[in-house]
Amino acid sequence: MASKFTISEDLASLIHSSAKILAAAGKVAAFTGAGMSAESGIGTFRGQGGLWKGIVGPVALTVFGTPVGWRLMPVVSWKAYLSHFYDPMKPALPNPGHRALATLAEAGVPVKIVTQNVDGLHQRAGSDPSGVYEVHGTVLKYKCNHNGHRYEFPVDQAADPQVMPDLPRSPPVCSVPGCGYYIRPDCVLFTENLPGGTWARAEDAMTELGPGDVLLVVGTSSTVQPAASLPVAAAAKGAHVFEFNLEETSFGSLPNHAFFQGPAGQILPALVEEALRIRGEGRS
Ligand code: NAD
Repeated sequence: MASKFTISEDLASLIHSSAKILAAAGKVAAFTGAGMSAESGIGTFRGQGGLWKGIVGPVALTVFGTPVGWRLMPVVSWKAYLSHFYDPMKPALPNPGHRALATLAEAGVPVKIVTQNVDGLHQRAGSDPSGVYEVHGTVLKYKCNHNGHRYEFPVDQAADPQVMPDLPRSPPVCSVPGCGYYIRPDCVLFTENLPGGTWARAEDAMTELGPGDVLLVVGTSSTVQPAASLPVAAAAKGAHVFEFNLEETSFGSLPNHAFFQGPAGQILPALVEEALRIRGEGRS
């Protein structure tokens, strides 16, 4: 459980002035990264307490984080993937930040979400899956290493709460007759291209924003390209960029940028609540 963050007077004032803009926005989009899910207990790659500060994480990543690793060492890759990435992520549940984006949509403000995350937590928080663009793929889908045959593993519907599926402990092998190659997560690994259709929809979600619209940038170090170019495209169209992070990033130099420093899972709900209150007042 995250410790309670105290919202300073300056931040409260920024939340209030920004909530007015959010309440009046014609279009709202979000661009999210690993920090969005940090308060769900999933480690980030970079930033305070990032997973890859030590030695073991980066070494494991060179195996299960690259297509070469999966091709040359599929068994080692599967085991490293489970122990360093999937198993720690499996029990995670959506946090109030994920739910805040879903709440906006439920209140009549649809939010297109472009996420670099692979954890599926936006959809589980209630955001419409057709408006969530996973530009780096997802750990909820799998494919065989050679022919791309698709696999999914079932979620335990009886479990309360429902978490991510149990995965086989031994590396699974493609069951399509004549194939038999090992199976890997359908995530974008280092050196791989982004999925074309999803990327095109993500670009559209950014470039359709204009003056008066809002892009919420949540928990990303802004270092992974080409994803990090998306907020720049939205800013160039004149959209407001509201950024939520523990630390400043290079997005700070964008025009119409406002920085909400602190845990997104606590600040984003405060902003959304205030914006919906203002919208409600405008209607009454
Ligand atoms: P990153 O790890 O490079 O950076 C995380 C950012 O989140 C940092 O700037 C950090 O300061 C910020 N942050 C940490 N906790 C926060 C909080 N509570 N509130 C607000 N901000 C917080 O993440 P990235 O930019 O998304 O790039 C890393 C890549 O690794 C992405 O492709 C991502 O998909 C992948 N990844 C995904 C997950 C996941 O699916 N949950 C987890 C780790 C890494």
